[in-house]
Order: sequence, then C-alpha cells, then structure tokens
Amino acid sequence: MAHGPDPKYNSEQKIAFTRSLVIYDDFIAAIGDAKTIFITAHVGPDGDTLGSMLGFKFAFEKACPHIQRVDCVISGKMPDTYNFLPGIKEVLRMETATTLLDQYDLGISVDCGSADRLGLARPLFEGAKISANIDHHVSNERFGKVNVVEPTAAASAEVAFDILKAMKIPLDANIATCLYTGIVTDTGGFKYSNTTAKVMETVASLISAGADPEYIFKQLYEEQPLCQVLLQADAVLRTQFNAGKTIGWTVVSREMLSQHGALDEHLDGVVESIRRVDSVLVAVVFKETELGKTKISIRSDSHDIDVSAVMGLFGGGGHRMAAGCTMEFPLQDAPAQLLPILEEKVSQKLLVS
Ligand code: 5GP
Ligand code: MN
Repeated sequence: MAHGPDPKYNSEQKIAFTRSLVIYDDFIAAIGDAKTIFITAHVGPDGDTLGSMLGFKFAFEKACPHIQRVDCVISGKMPDTYNFLPGIKEVLRMETATTLLDQYDLGISVDCGSADRLGLARPLFEGAKISANIDHHVSNERFGKVNVVEPTAAASAEVAFDILKAMKIPLDANIATCLYTGIVTDTGGFKYSNTTAKVMETVASLISAGADPEYIFKQLYEEQPLCQVLLQADAVLRTQFNAGKTIGWTVVSREMLSQHGALDEHLDGVVESIRRVDSVLVAVVFKETELGKTKISIRSDSHDIDVSAVMGLFGGGGHRMAAGCTMEFPLQDAPAQLLPILEEKVSQKLLVS
C-alpha cells in the first residue's frame, strides 16, 4: 500500500531511471514470443497488485493477437474491496483454479518483492519458460529471469503504464481504470511523497482514457461495510504508545476480527490512522494470522526511518515508509520482539534531528 520513493534518487536520476527503455526490452521481447501468459502477484493482493495484473491482461488481450491466453492467478484469499475492477471475476485462485496450464511461455509477477510471497503460485511462475518480475519495492530480490524493478515508481501500475507506453499499446477505459486504481491506492489517494509530477502526468493520461476518479475513490474508500468501520474504530481505540508517544501500535487477534464479523482486509487503513497522531514516528499493526503467527503492517512518518530495513530482519520488506512481514512468533510475543528495535531506530532519529 502506501509508500514513498527512495529519497536517495534525485529527480534527474529518477527520470533517467524510469525512462530507460533498455530495461523494458527483455520483457517486451518475452511478450512478443509468448502465446500463453500467467500473471500472478503477492498473497493478500491490494489495489496495485490487482490493478497492475488486470491492466496488463486487458492490454495484452487487446493489442497482442498472437497471445492465446492470459491467466491471472492469486494464491490465498481475494479481498472484496476491489470487486468493482473490470475483469476481477477472471482473477483465479490457485486453490480452486482447474483450468491452468502445466507450463506457460511467460510467467509475470507484479508488485511482489520476493518469490516466497507468491505462495502457491510460485511453482507456475518459476516453471514458466521465461519468468518476469515487474515491481517497485525497494526490497525486491530480483527473483525473475527478467527483472523490471523501479523503486522510484509510486506503484507497480506506474511501471505497467510505462511498459504499455513503450509498447505503444493504446489505453482504454478498462486498462485505465485498473492502472488508476493501482496508483491511487499506493499513493494513499495522491497524499504520499511518492506523488510526483510524473504520477500526475500518468493519471492525467489515465483519466483521459476513461478512468473515473470519483467513481474509483468512492468504491475504494467510501463504501465500507459497517464491520470494517467498527473494527477500525476498535483497533484504533486499543492503540498503545511508548513513553514518548513516538511509537504507536495496536494488537488484533482472530477473536477480535470474528467479534466484529470482519475479515483481514478490513484492517487496511488502521496503521495509517495511528501514524496520523502528531507525535508518532512509527505505527504498527500486529495481527494474528490463521496459523497463529503475527502479520506486521508498519508505517514510518519520517524518510529517515527505514521500516523496510527493519522488516528485512524478520524476512519481510516493502518500502522505506511502508512495509510488512510475517513474524514466526504468536501475537502475545511479537511486540516484545519488534518494539525494542523500533525504539532504537526512533532514538537514533531523534538524536540526529
Ligand atoms: P501492508 O502493510 O499494506 O500490507 O504492506 C505495506 C507494504 O509492505 C506493501 O508494499 C507490501 O507489499 C509490503 N509488505 C507487506 N508485507 C510484506 C511481507 O511479508 N514481505 C515483504 N517483502 N513485503 C511485505
Ligand atoms: Mn505496490
């Protein structure tokens, strides 16, 4: 979800980085050679994940007559939030799909930083004749045969837009709606520091091609089920703080989710609500998983505090200011593992500022 660009790139470097057509060549050649394409992404898909997948699917189906099939597949649960996206019903789940090929010419992973986050889709991705990793996470492990990773892009959907532009594929309303959704969600509604002039130029093209900002925003943020609104209020009310109120965190058990009749996806946004507190530099949601582990959603309020690096200590990753991991510890033990590390990070930041 939300993240900022890596500030170590200045704007000139960024333009060189994102405009370099060379890095797209291998991917575009692979599309030219593929009759069958498998597109997948990380478990727990979000707006950028699904928008990028479907944007590619619509574009390839429309503009590449040599491609016989494009199968979009996710491992694990699909959130309901994105049911408004065109083509969403064609996104299959690995657990229930019965029509998949044994091998595809091209496997594409979008918006996923590491192969283990592909879940059950990993073997089909890795088993494709060519595997392509299209992403914007700073922590991306370059696990594809072809890798198009642009950490300065606000969203994978922005990378997808650039690729379609390089391929000279004209946009239509379906492609535009999907890519716009990816960008609006990953920029927090054009609020975060990854909202660059290039992002705005990109969304201007998407709106011209038929994306409807009011409709998309309403579907994403203004049509929440009651259980989501109440769960979020409850989770925020339970926020705990360290002594300086620089770290805020909340702990969400399976029992709490079921008391509200809510799903995991309904927690999206809570970590940003905690970060909103003026003194908070790092916000964390600790969520119990169905397997009794602990999923972390973490946000930083400062470019100087790199939470992706902290998540890397636990096998996770993400972006400098928005990251996550699954800790092997049960819910009651996880805060004691993570909070001292965050205290250290925050005190380093306060010392230098
Ligand atoms: P969220 O908190 O919204 O689930 O995720 C924030 C960011 O961190 C997203 O860009 C997401 O892809 C990344 N992220 C979340 N969980 C994990 C994880 O377990 N591993 C890695 N590598 N990245 C994660
Ligand atoms: Mn993304």
